[in-house]
Amino acid sequence: MIFKIKSYFFLLITIALCLIKNDIFSKIIEIKNSEQNNNFHNNQSSPINSHVDNFVEVLMGVGFTKASAEKAINVLLKACPLEILREHSYLIVPSTEKKIISFAFNINNSDAIIIKRNETQYEAFLTDTELAKKLVSERITNYSEIKNIIKIDSSENKFNKNISYEKIEFKKGDTLLRLLKDSVSNKTKLKRLIIQVKDIIDPYKIKIGTEGSLIKINNQLLAFYIEINSKEYLLATLNGKEYKINKVKKNELESLLNNKLTYTNKKKNIITRVNIFNNPKYIIKNNILKKGESIYEILATYKIHNKEIAKILKSIKPYFDVKKIKIGKTIDVVFYNKKFLGLSYKISKIESLQVVKIENTYKAYIYKKAYKKKSTQSEIVIINNLYNDSKQVNLPKGIFIELVKLLSFSLDFQRDIRKNTKFLILYENLYDYNGNFITNGKILYSQVSLNNNKVEMFYFENSFGQGEYFDNNGKSIRKTLMKTPIDGARLSSGFGKRKHPILGYNKMHKGLDFAAKKGTPVYAAGDGIIERANFFGGYGRYIRIKHNSEYKTAYAHLSGFSRGIKKNIRVKQGQIIGYVGSTGRSTGPHLHYEVLYYNKQINPSKIKFKEIEKLDGENLINFYKQRDKTIKILNN
Ligand SMILES: [Zn+2]
Repeated sequence: MIFKIKSYFFLLITIALCLIKNDIFSKIIEIKNSEQNNNFHNNQSSPINSHVDNFVEVLMGVGFTKASAEKAINVLLKACPLEILREHSYLIVPSTEKKIISFAFNINNSDAIIIKRNETQYEAFLTDTELAKKLVSERITNYSEIKNIIKIDSSENKFNKNISYEKIEFKKGDTLLRLLKDSVSNKTKLKRLIIQVKDIIDPYKIKIGTEGSLIKINNQLLAFYIEINSKEYLLATLNGKEYKINKVKKNELESLLNNKLTYTNKKKNIITRVNIFNNPKYIIKNNILKKGESIYEILATYKIHNKEIAKILKSIKPYFDVKKIKIGKTIDVVFYNKKFLGLSYKISKIESLQVVKIENTYKAYIYKKAYKKKSTQSEIVIINNLYNDSKQVNLPKGIFIELVKLLSFSLDFQRDIRKNTKFLILYENLYDYNGNFITNGKILYSQVSLNNNKVEMFYFENSFGQGEYFDNNGKSIRKTLMKTPIDGARLSSGFGKRKHPILGYNKMHKGLDFAAKKGTPVYAAGDGIIERANFFGGYGRYIRIKHNSEYKTAYAHLSGFSRGIKKNIRVKQGQIIGYVGSTGRSTGPHLHYEVLYYNKQINPSKIKFKEIEKLDGENLINFYKQRDKTIKILNN
């Protein structure tokens, strides 16, 4: 056994009195193992529940009612799964006889979660153990002036980054079957789904213009809804292995769907907002993944048995694809008392995969750093070009790239941006509770002042937590096609007659040329299906995307295609499809970009791009509120 504790299922409550500043006493209830309460150990049926029950009992022991103890523990569970508590974890409660307004858990000997009552609800906060002791024992309830603490927003804990929402609108020739085909791979299942739909509407006679949405997780259909009439929707949700179909009222749709999605996420209760391995007593060994290596080889070097490694990999499988770990990335292997405790892999600046040994099994968690957001404002006046001028004001590179990508929906960089054009950008920086910078967050707002025009965009999350950018009237800034499917490139040749640089005679130039360095990513200008991705005569390496029955876009002279890009593959707007090169009849690295309307090249800068989404109802009201708040921040 690695730990002295056989399990923290056995709770021995020792109440230690701890003298803190101001001579206020705080009780510290330690969660320790003991040979008592063996009955818990025998209760194998639902160890986690009996575990929760133990904590509820502990809270009832210090004066909580059962109902409020349960409420409080549920809030704690959103911040960290109780299984990660170790023998050095303990509960911190105030010593006074008065009603408890807050208590805390020291989780890993460094970080603590404070659970604080707010009227009838509880809220969770992350801080360090010493501050937690002080706040709990001194019964401090107003945290607004306290620096080193973060409120844990449980809405951020949804494990929904793999959930995607796709708006649908029935066009001529569309059938429900065809729209669902890609996301329901099992044909029998799809057939049964269509049969069920028949009870409510005729799936083959859906009116043109009918709107709805597909909700997918890892590209599998989780739910969908379509409009039946102005008041009702047909809602299908995955229930176990089959879909359940219901007719629902328009005003109930969002909450029903939200419940469904929250439930799906809850089953994956693997989010922890506390770093499991943030304990000074743990020994952490960094291992850089070399060519030909995987987690397996790394663990094997620490003489971890094959069977154990198999268990570890099995625990990870439902939540993370270990094949995604690239050469050069670091895998931390953690030891405690010279015994193997687990491993940690940083997925992004915010998320890590953490696997920890619990009893004789392994559990995988996604450690999602809790952060504080601070917004920062930058102003760029064009003197040279956007890239250099944004460097001058220290705009982070990631923000610059994102900004250009977003603005390319509304701006033609070549024509619209001139000397003295002014950019205003409001973006987030993320900090941990100690105030250490983690990473840049989202762009919240941007404004470009053109000659007699102002282009604005606001970030807004709808009631599903889906974030998108809108103009100041709540219209999505995403257009059907991007005007510039490349980052910050220079338009080197427009559409029209010109002397061909290689052929030497006057020839119609049927596209736009963007000069850029070899290897610069090229984006899909809109959602669509790849019609062609191969070598195509003078075009060199060439990609053509069919967006709808009218429009196609083509990308030529590429140096290479992005992984997985081939004929008949579906791509999303903004997805990297290939890289700038100089293949085919080309004098130097550039992207030759064409827009085809009914298979005929047209001048891309002449197209009127139609907006695709407009907020309405509650979402629009909330958008206006947030928009006005943003404007206030800017004026301050
Ligand atoms: Zn060209």
